[in-house]
Amino acid sequence: MAGNQGNYRENPTRNEKKYKKANGQPRLKEKSSRAKSDNVCPYAKKCGGCDYQGVEYKEQLKTKQAYMKKLLKPFCFVEPIVGMKNPLYYRHKVHAAFDCTRRGQIVAGAYRKNTHDVVDIESCMIEEQESDEIIRDIKDMLRSFRIKTYDEDTGYGLLRHVLVRKGYATGQIMVVLVLASPILPSKNNFVKALRKKHPNITTVVLNVNDKKTSMVLGDRNITLYGKGFIEDKLCGCTFRISPGSFYQVNPVQTELLYEKAIHEAHLTGKERIIDAYCGTGTIGIIAAKNAGEVIGVELNRDAIRDAVINAKRNDIRNIRFYNDDAGKFMVEMAQKGEKADVVIMDPPRTGSDEAFLSSVVKLSPERVVYVSCGPETLARDLKYLTKHGYTVKRATPYDCFPFTSHIETVCCLTFQGR
Ligand code: SAH
Repeated sequence: MAGNQGNYRENPTRNEKKYKKANGQPRLKEKSSRAKSDNVCPYAKKCGGCDYQGVEYKEQLKTKQAYMKKLLKPFCFVEPIVGMKNPLYYRHKVHAAFDCTRRGQIVAGAYRKNTHDVVDIESCMIEEQESDEIIRDIKDMLRSFRIKTYDEDTGYGLLRHVLVRKGYATGQIMVVLVLASPILPSKNNFVKALRKKHPNITTVVLNVNDKKTSMVLGDRNITLYGKGFIEDKLCGCTFRISPGSFYQVNPVQTELLYEKAIHEAHLTGKERIIDAYCGTGTIGIIAAKNAGEVIGVELNRDAIRDAVINAKRNDIRNIRFYNDDAGKFMVEMAQKGEKADVVIMDPPRTGSDEAFLSSVVKLSPERVVYVSCGPETLARDLKYLTKHGYTVKRATPYDCFPFTSHIETVCCLTFQGR
């Protein structure tokens, strides 16, 4: 159930595998660095979620720090990685794939590494515990409600995945049942029975995914109970989380990460900021309180819809959102001769592109704050920016994904002139 950051399955596609191989994640060098911890997850060898199971947390942080230091050596000083006080049960988005074995046993959990075989997981050490319990209970309820799991090979059956999101600050819980068809027999009784076991569930959504695809979610959402979304709070602002919108999975670290990103923007209340790859508008909305004006740009239409609602919800009026490709949008801004004082960019793992980066150089904002979830693409993009007039002041890694090899980084760049 772990390790899935987006609307994708756990196991990488062929392209993702190639990408991983070419770029190399921070792997532990020697087997001996795997401490003989008693705390090893029983699914460690089977499940594709955690690469660092059995490794002491201190050692994990050391490995990530050393990796970032080496990777960013040509550019800047790397501040000490910000780790977690308690690195367990941090994921507030929990996803389980459902399947049925040949013997007819229903299984729910993560995919075995590099396969589509579902590893039956009772509880996971990095997932929020109530969310895990909900998935366990759904698994137990399926038989009495005569709900069949979906079979990828034959296309028969109904339930494909379950997604649970819990608001860290609000405690609100959203359960998304991903079905191959919009019809869930005795849906009202199912929801009633589930809510009886878990009264904290505030909304249940049926997501229809009837395609042969490796995406978890389909396009259509039908609300079975509640509002169809939950809310959570970060850095004093309230955000709506819909089934498909991106929202960081580790709320404790996200708050620190966003605070740092905004701190690095050095806002005085007058600046014009571009929040690129803005998702549901989180960073821009938090920053807007201390800025003159914020422009958010994001490719995903649902995320932009949430961003507009989020701005209203927080009574932020000095922000505008655009549903567009960030690169294309920036090229147009540069062509129009628009100005920006700060660009905050938070691209996906694949990083930014030359259209975007070359327009940043044209606009030449005094500061660029690069929030990255892909260290190698960060290094690639820094190479471009430093060749074209920017200096990297510092980079601060954040451990948002303990027990996995993923690293988030906040990087601060300033314009020195062409
Ligand atoms: N800043 C947000 C989201 C970061 S995730 C947050 O902290 O929550 C990266 C975002 O980039 C996703 O929302 C994704 O939909 C968006 N994205 C991916 N490619 C893009 C592109 N070419 N142009 C604009 N946005 C893009």
